Amino acid sequence: MPARILNGITIRDQIYGELMHGIAALGGAGIRPGLAAVLVGENPASQIYVRSKIAASEQLGLGSWELTPPATIMTEDLLALVAELNARDDVDGILVQLPLPPQVDAKRVLEAVDPAKDVDGFHPVNLGRLVSGRPGLVACTPAGCMEILRRSGIPLEGANAVVVGRSDIVGKPMALLLMHANATVTICHSKTRDLPGVVRRADIVIAAIGRAAMIEPDWVRPGATVIDVGINRITDAVEAQRIFANFPAKLAQFREKGFVLVGDVHPGVAEVAGAITPVPGGVGPLTIAMLMSNTVKAARLRRGRGQAAPSNFAGVAAAKP
Ligand code: NAP
Repeated sequence: MPARILNGITIRDQIYGELMHGIAALGGAGIRPGLAAVLVGENPASQIYVRSKIAASEQLGLGSWELTPPATIMTEDLLALVAELNARDDVDGILVQLPLPPQVDAKRVLEAVDPAKDVDGFHPVNLGRLVSGRPGLVACTPAGCMEILRRSGIPLEGANAVVVGRSDIVGKPMALLLMHANATVTICHSKTRDLPGVVRRADIVIAAIGRAAMIEPDWVRPGATVIDVGINRITDAVEAQRIFANFPAKLAQFREKGFVLVGDVHPGVAEVAGAITPVPGGVGPLTIAMLMSNTVKAARLRRGRGQAAPSNFAGVAAAKP
């Protein structure tokens, strides 16, 4: 039986609905949460990401600013820009779009962001809070995956969860969030032995690898839940044919547009899994929703308004003390 599709757009819209209540309540108290996005240079993919984040802020009625220093900017100048944003009271969230140009010390820049405004959840202070299960700002993509799991009623307590990928921004925080939700977590990476065998034992698979269609149907236990974080753009006709041989609609899309998107999970896994996120339209919309949520949360916390309603979808809030 084909898997239940875990539609990220529907879940994002639920979250936006809840956020709008919270934003209206803050508005009543004269507070308008604001997000500043720093986009260095003219990387087309980064421009698209930042534009969609600014558009989401505008849709929700948040304040938003896009700062676009040139690709030639040096670390010290970027640090000065971050310091200015840290000092501004109307800016609740700061995001520095990655990647940064090679001459910039990206770690120094990310660590310069005030942890209270670190809506990407990349600052070591926020990572430390996540490790110890204390409330803080959590990285948006893993927090979004948790929202998909929770709001879809996927049981987490005692479940075997396998996270493939151990990056600082996805795999590691994802594993911590699942562990805090009382799943039994295995983290896999490029040196893992018998990856298909490990994945086959999972009730929940999180694929965050960056390799097109790598998780094959026979790696997945029938009925398992699969969260596909990967977004890969396929432009090669032979590769498109190999991946989508049994998916004529996708091949037609490829012929029409010259590219097609695929996750880190092979599309055939939908025939085996119990539930699966689509690509596109799965994890992606949640990443932006959680950025919005973090901005509202940062505004509330910075102004001493706690982290009550609209919901505690920051992930760690549900963690055991
Ligand atoms: P990353 O920093 O490149 O990390 C990839 C991880 O996958 C690494 O830990 C790597 O292992 C592991 N890996 C690579 N090849 C492997 C293999 N053959 N077998 C097992 N593990 C392997 O990537 P990322 O930033 O976490 O992103 C992962 C994917 O998610 C990408 O497709 C990215 O585009 C996508 N993404 C999507 C969103 C969204 O909003 N939907 C957000 C962020 C990222 P090692 O550590 O051993 O090298």
